[in-house]
Amino acid sequence: MARVPELYGSLVFNEKVMKDKLPKDVFKALKKTMEQGTHLELDVANSVAVAMKEWAVENGATHFTHWFQPLTGATAEKHDSFISPVGGGEVIMEFSGKELVKGEPDASSFPSGGLRATFEARGYTAWDPTSPAFLKDGTLCIPTAFCSYSGEALDKKTPLLRSMEALSKEATKVLNLLGNTEVTSVTTTVGPEQEYFLIDEKDYAKRKDLIFTGRTLLGAPSPKGQEMDDHYFGSIRPRVSAYMHDLDEELWKLGIPAKTKHNEVAPSQHELAPIFDTTNVAVDHNQLMMEVMKKVAHKHGYVCLLHEKPFAGINGSGKHNNWSMSTNTGLNLLEPGKTPGENTQFLVFLMAVIKAVDEHADLLRLSVASAGNDHRLGANEAPPAIISMFLGDELTAVVDAIEKGTLFSNEKRVQMETGATVLPHFFKDTTDRNRTSPFAFTGNKFEFRSLGSSASVANPNIMLNTAVADVLAGFYEELKGYEGEALQDAVKALLKKTIIEHKRVIFNGNGYTEEWVEEAAKRGLYNFKSTPEVLPRLITPENIALFVKHGIYTETEAMSRYEILLENYCKTLHIETCTLQDMLNHEFLPATLKYADQLTASILAKKQVCTSISTKAEEKQLAFATEKYEALYELVEKLHADTVAAEGMEDLLEQATFYHETIIPEMVSARELADAVEAVMPKDVIPYPSYSDMLFYV
Ligand code: ADP
Ligand code: MG
Repeated sequence: MARVPELYGSLVFNEKVMKDKLPKDVFKALKKTMEQGTHLELDVANSVAVAMKEWAVENGATHFTHWFQPLTGATAEKHDSFISPVGGGEVIMEFSGKELVKGEPDASSFPSGGLRATFEARGYTAWDPTSPAFLKDGTLCIPTAFCSYSGEALDKKTPLLRSMEALSKEATKVLNLLGNTEVTSVTTTVGPEQEYFLIDEKDYAKRKDLIFTGRTLLGAPSPKGQEMDDHYFGSIRPRVSAYMHDLDEELWKLGIPAKTKHNEVAPSQHELAPIFDTTNVAVDHNQLMMEVMKKVAHKHGYVCLLHEKPFAGINGSGKHNNWSMSTNTGLNLLEPGKTPGENTQFLVFLMAVIKAVDEHADLLRLSVASAGNDHRLGANEAPPAIISMFLGDELTAVVDAIEKGTLFSNEKRVQMETGATVLPHFFKDTTDRNRTSPFAFTGNKFEFRSLGSSASVANPNIMLNTAVADVLAGFYEELKGYEGEALQDAVKALLKKTIIEHKRVIFNGNGYTEEWVEEAAKRGLYNFKSTPEVLPRLITPENIALFVKHGIYTETEAMSRYEILLENYCKTLHIETCTLQDMLNHEFLPATLKYADQLTASILAKKQVCTSISTKAEEKQLAFATEKYEALYELVEKLHADTVAAEGMEDLLEQATFYHETIIPEMVSARELADAVEAVMPKDVIPYPSYSDMLFYV
């Protein structure tokens, strides 16, 4: 693979291509726009469009599309070809600056939460020059923002860019005040680790639940699960390895720096992590990565499952959002350096994140809420639903010292004693691993671990950026006007006050225990257990004021997102309950009857041969199957009636709560009954591939 450097980014209109293709002044103007967000003149856009088209056509493209992220959670594209008739039945390939900068997809069928009445279906896409254009299946894809005729954001990119700007503005003000006057902007950086399952396409095709809902609604556990911990970091099977290899190559071509891959805890579960990038690009790349993962899986006879909980009884999939802030001068603001206790600038930003996470825990929790992720959070396999922070020993000692006003002495870092002289000696990381914390400091960044595997990482980053921007704005207000020693004192006082007020959010222990749930309640931390419980936090007066203050969402935009999230939750559950009823009615109940028939036939046949022969076992089995059959049938009737009731509810929150409180428990009970029968049924009667088939034979 000597050709990786050549392969890398070969499908991306990146800086190297731009430099080659663009006149010098145009390249300079574009770069300024990319780096400083300055307005781009139409003549520059025209020139860029010509170069883009030329490059795209040279690489086999025939179409272009404005690629955007509507509020469905997926990405959207509408392809137009470059052709333009020139008479005489001939065409040339054309692409203008206007077409590059603005698009006008008919947008009436995307969710807008009432933002855009359907009679006024116009939506606009606007080129985002900060995320590079790329080629996909012969189409030039141009990352764009998506908004309504009246300018409201209809997507995730627009508020994300707004939140990055807000953070940059507030962080720069604080840095300048602290004497770091060279800094003119700050960007947030993100590296999302993505978990996924691979199962065989043939099994997938036989499971309606996977096809319609992305997760199994039925299925008895296989004799072996993940209890041996033998899959985690285990050697990768050849077929999976071939997939991963192919996947890396496809991602590299798209300029996505896929770096780390390994087997995860659950059987058939894996993880892929790229190297971090600016948040905007990382979010786009993660969307693209999920798409490529599915596509490449297909080539290998797999289906890639990105659902948060495809299988009961074994771990589900999440995403770890590694996050930091970095200045235009190249400084990572969360890098503690050798002596964090003396690094004022680091401490200010660390404290800002601590306060942000404590004050806006509701928004962080909300940003990861979905029907799928409800199965993980709080289920002792993912971080708990309570948002707390892990700092590790060294930083905890530092913040303790600040609180007590004692001087923090940075003891010599401990040399790791491996006990084997042939191994190189290395220094212990200042933070240990704590897998149960939702928000952990990991050396020079924070890792927000509550994200679901299938969702865009845009929302969590919008909330995180906004929360930290807001705290920094407050810090600035408290510190401005001071200089020299007075400023030093003011900073010290601010740090002390902040840690006293917000240390309740710091928790270095085991987040999976019942004691923590009690302790967190005593500390006054939120514990939103489900999506319907937390969603209303999006539109509380104080949160709307926060969004408006920092220009993230208008009130209408926040309301629309609230409505879309609720609607999405209800629709997801509606599809799940309908799929479950369908599978029970058409597959599982008939299979149970067939099983009962076989038993009955056996009893009758034996009796015919000889009346004294025992049929005790069959009778017992028959009684068991019949009892479960009847109970299951009753539950299906109940599920059906309750689904109709849910559909009739006009109030979305009431509907969502009903799904959560009534329908989900019924689905769980139905599953328990069905799985108990599946566990004793003959293999050829089970109407779909079993957990063993799916998880252990790929
Ligand atoms: P883990 O040990 O948590 O599994 P990985 O190496 O798999 O760690 O992932 C760590 C992720 O954090 C990578 O995507 C890496 O690029 C990212 N990362 C490293 N530094 C930063 C930073 N300053 N900002 C954001 N992400 C970062
Ligand atoms: Mg990690």
